[in-house]
Amino acid sequence: MLFDAKSKRHVQPKKSARKTVLVTAMCALLLAGCSDEQPPTEYKTTAYVFGTLVDITIRGTDTQSAEAAVADLSAGFQELHNDWHAWKPLGELAAINGACKSGETVTVGDNTLIALQKAKDFEISSHGLFNAALGRVIGLWGFHSDTLPKGEKPPFDQIDALVAQSPSMADIRITGHDVTCMNPAVSLDFGGFGKGLALDWALDRLQSKGIANALINAGGDVSSMGHYAEADTGRPWRIGIRHPKTWGVLASVDVDHDEAVYTSGNYERYNEQDGIRYSHIIDPRNGRAVQSIVSSTVIHTNSALADAAATALSVAGLRDWPQIAADMGVSQVMVVDETGHMYATPDMRARLIFGSETKPEITVVPLPTASPKSAVAQ
Ligand code: ADP
Ligand code: MG
Repeated sequence: MLFDAKSKRHVQPKKSARKTVLVTAMCALLLAGCSDEQPPTEYKTTAYVFGTLVDITIRGTDTQSAEAAVADLSAGFQELHNDWHAWKPLGELAAINGACKSGETVTVGDNTLIALQKAKDFEISSHGLFNAALGRVIGLWGFHSDTLPKGEKPPFDQIDALVAQSPSMADIRITGHDVTCMNPAVSLDFGGFGKGLALDWALDRLQSKGIANALINAGGDVSSMGHYAEADTGRPWRIGIRHPKTWGVLASVDVDHDEAVYTSGNYERYNEQDGIRYSHIIDPRNGRAVQSIVSSTVIHTNSALADAAATALSVAGLRDWPQIAADMGVSQVMVVDETGHMYATPDMRARLIFGSETKPEITVVPLPTASPKSAVAQ
């Protein structure tokens, strides 16, 4: 089993075009300017996770130890990649998806059990807007492919028929390690939170090898541990959040205390037809691509939650995202609408850092009280 259930990264609530840009280079330059200060050792490498190149930075540890610590990450990433692949017959998700058609029961390992439970929790707390059982609909939109869809019109009649069968994680029954799928319209797709869960695992793994300061940037979704500088210096990691339209840096945040910054947007993977971009984020209520929010960013110590919440808030739209954020237990949220206007919770607004020339207007949106548990767990 790869996951340590006791880790705070797994306790809730407590983590291509690059939508987030790491701007530690600036800090490195500043450090180099301090002649009497020895810059801490920095080790950088890349790994391949879920089809994305992942940059791993480790600081304050000698190169040999850092190298040894990351050496075993690749095998774990590969295991998760295979087990959780949404459309290739590589592992456990494919086996469950096959069982949704055949009605058979399949036995899965601990990693997939943890992921299934999280997917169920996220679906409940997001009032069904985060739905990891929506794989067949996502496939019909053309996103179950290594290449982007080339403008074929999605088969809306088939999508509507699937949505009418209400695929849900509630259709997945778990007894011990045995999984039964009760609805042939279900196909699991962990694309909305698997990367976060994998990076939570990776940071735990590095920590268990004695690493204190690390940052993993997976195609713009960033999970951090410790600090940019040595822990006693306390300089935080600085992360740039990508502007959804211009490719520039929209804003930066300093992250500390093992925080993760995850962004969901429709600018990276989309199906374009007649000049309209259809996002790879799908509204489970109607099977249609999300339109009104072009990007949503969440900061949280739990990467899986930050990842899932960013996806769910994109689905929630401009009216409902504050309630969904409150119910999912995330208080640091920024969303950008189709016109480029920014909205942020007070907790997020307090952290956004802008360059001198970019001071965009931001609407600050306080979060409502979370719904009573009984209302969320319908
Ligand atoms: P990214 O992969 O760019 O970080 P997200 O984290 O938002 O973006 O994940 C988008 C992926 O999540 C889609 O490609 C699809 O696999 C899956 N997905 C799409 N809509 C939903 C949804 N409503 N709930 C859960 N997962 C979704
Ligand atoms: Mg996500």
